Amino acid sequence: MKVIWNKEIVDRASVKIDLEDRGYQFGDGLYEVIRAYNGTLFTIDEHIDRMFRGADKIDLKMPFTKEELKQLIISLIKENQIDTGNIYFQLTRGNGSPRNHAYPDPEKVTPVFTASTTVVPRDAVLMSKGVAAITIPDMRWLHCDIKSISLLGNVMAKHEAHKVGAFEAIQHRDGIVTEASSSNSWMIKDDVIYTHPDGNLILAGITKLVILKIAREAGLKVKEEPYTLEQLKQADEVFISSTTLEVMPVVTLDGASVGDGKVGPIVTKLQELYAQEVTRVCGE
Ligand code: PMP
Repeated sequence: MKVIWNKEIVDRASVKIDLEDRGYQFGDGLYEVIRAYNGTLFTIDEHIDRMFRGADKIDLKMPFTKEELKQLIISLIKENQIDTGNIYFQLTRGNGSPRNHAYPDPEKVTPVFTASTTVVPRDAVLMSKGVAAITIPDMRWLHCDIKSISLLGNVMAKHEAHKVGAFEAIQHRDGIVTEASSSNSWMIKDDVIYTHPDGNLILAGITKLVILKIAREAGLKVKEEPYTLEQLKQADEVFISSTTLEVMPVVTLDGASVGDGKVGPIVTKLQELYAQEVTRVCGE
């Protein structure tokens, strides 16, 4: 499998990242993950827009236009013949030596771009059975809208889940459910679907955007508003969403069953609608 290093498709072994790269030393960079179905990158423009928005927020000068970035990542999907899989790409502020927290003069640094692909089939078994989650205080910073490669808070939360055999950690701040460690969090009560509104406390998930659209088009009731940890624990259905997980049911929370402990009807409906949307965009 080839990778992208800056603007070239190269062998992975030939990539050289300087030890003073600000991504490596400070986590000073942004990333995206886009899923390919049938060789087509789903919601590619939305992901690219988000990276450009993030770059604006941290004064990182993008080294290419949106269209150039789009063609670059499409070329890697083609080169590696990815049918169903993911592309991961990241952009760091580059080598700013001598080490200094302050942003270096953008004229004196060159951002470093890398991209790689993986073949990952849809996990139909997991999607039909659901997963276990824990709840945990949100210990992250206040710019969760930036898809930063500084992920230690998220990594620590996920580790707490894995320590007890759970799949994901759903985080809460001041009693309000924010999002999970690497996915958005949702609950359903009395046929209404709730999810935290976008803002600085969560990542504006692209999968969330797709789910909001397809749910509303199907006439389901959706409220993008904060809900409490107590409400989550009393929910009829719970699910998490991300590019790689799509609509993933959560059937236990902190060891207790969600609803009757089975995947519920609205989550099943959303899974069907999501699959239809993927087919509409990427083909059968
Ligand atoms: N929140 C967090 C913290 C995430 O890491 C992710 C996935 N990267 C998401 C939400 C879901 O985002 P998306 O649907 O764009 O993959």
